[in-house]
Amino acid sequence: MDVLRTSAKGKWHVPGPDADRCPYVARVYGYHRTDLPTQPVPVLGEYDWCSHCIHRVGLPGPAGAFYTVAGLIVAAAGWVTALEEQAPGMDWLDVARWTCRTPFGSPDPMPDLLTGLAGARGWARHRHTAQGLWHALRQRTDTALTLARQAAGPPGLRVVAARARDLVARDPQTQAETATLHAIAAGPFAIRDWTRPDPGSMALDVWLTAIAQDGDAEAAYTAMLTAVEQRYQHAPVRDVSLLPQPALTPPADHDSPAAWAADEYKALRRLVVDQRSSRLDDALAQAQTTGTDTERLLLLSGWPITASTEREIAYLTQYPVLDRAVVADPGTSFPALREIPWVVVLRVPEFAAEHATAQRSEHLRARAGTTILHPGVARH
Ligand SMILES: [Zn+2]
Repeated sequence: MDVLRTSAKGKWHVPGPDADRCPYVARVYGYHRTDLPTQPVPVLGEYDWCSHCIHRVGLPGPAGAFYTVAGLIVAAAGWVTALEEQAPGMDWLDVARWTCRTPFGSPDPMPDLLTGLAGARGWARHRHTAQGLWHALRQRTDTALTLARQAAGPPGLRVVAARARDLVARDPQTQAETATLHAIAAGPFAIRDWTRPDPGSMALDVWLTAIAQDGDAEAAYTAMLTAVEQRYQHAPVRDVSLLPQPALTPPADHDSPAAWAADEYKALRRLVVDQRSSRLDDALAQAQTTGTDTERLLLLSGWPITASTEREIAYLTQYPVLDRAVVADPGTSFPALREIPWVVVLRVPEFAAEHATAQRSEHLRARAGTTILHPGVARH
C-alpha cells in the first residue's frame, strides 16, 4: 500500500484526494498536488499512524474491495442467523425493526463494491462467490421475514383493546367527563400537576393492561374503577357547582352538606367509570365488525414504526406501502439516513385507519382518506 510521512520519524499518513486530504499532509503539500512522495510499504507491519488517517488505512486495489465485501458478508450472515432464530416469535414491532435494519439496503451496497472487482485479473471467481453468498443471504432473509410476518399474524386482543382505548380517549364526551371529575376535587383555581400522570389516560391504561390478559371485561372494569378510586377517594369536593344536576344521591341521611357532597362525588365517579366502560366495550365489539370488507388510504408520518411505545400500532407494518417520501425537518441537522422519518401512504382496512388516527404516539401522525375502497379493486 502507498502511504507517506512528512519526516523520517513522523507518523504515517494515507494522504487522500483533494478536499478529503489529511490536514497534516495538506499543511505541508497543499490540497491539490498529485505528485505526493508516497512510498509503498508492506501490508503486514507495524506503523505509527496519524490519528486522522488511521480510519482510512486499507488494502489497495481489488484486495481492498474484496476485504470490504467479505466484512459485509460476515456481518450480514450474523444478522441473518439472528433473524432466523427470532423470526418464529416476532410481533409486528419486531418485524418493522428488523426490516428497517436490513444490511441489504436499499440501496444495496453490494453491486457498487463488486464493481471494484470487475475486470480485475484473477478476481472473477471471488467476485462470483461473493455475489452468490450475498444472494443466498438475501433469500434467507426473505424467507425468515415471511415466517416472522406469519408469526406476527392478524391483530390480537391487545391490539384490538388498544384501539378501543385510543378511540375512547379521543371521544369528547369522555374527555369532558374526565375533566369534570378532576376539577371537582382540584377546585376552580387548580393548576395541572405535570408530575402525575393524566388521570384519564392512566385509568384507560389500567383497563387495557387488565383486559389484554384474558379479555375479562368484568376484571378490567374493576381495575379501572379501583384506579379512579385510588386517585380520588380521599379528595375533598372543592367545587360543588360541578356536581351533576339533578343530583344522584338523595340529600337525606347525611349529617352535613360535605358528607353528602362526598357521597355524591363517589356516585359520580362510579357513573363516569360505568359510561367509559360501556364505551370501551362498544369499541371492542365494533372492532369485530368494522372494516373487514372496506379499506382507506392512510397518510402516516414517522415511518417506520419502531418505538417501543408504538407496539400496539406496529401492525400497520403489514399493509402495502403505496408511496413514500422523506420528511425534511429544518430543525434537525443531518440525522443518520435510517433515522430519517418517512411519510408513507398505506392502504389499510378501516379498522386500522380509525385506530391510526386515534392513537397518540409522539412520533406518528396519521390522516385517513375519506374515500372508501374495496379490497382487491384498483390496487396499484
Ligand atoms: Zn494523516
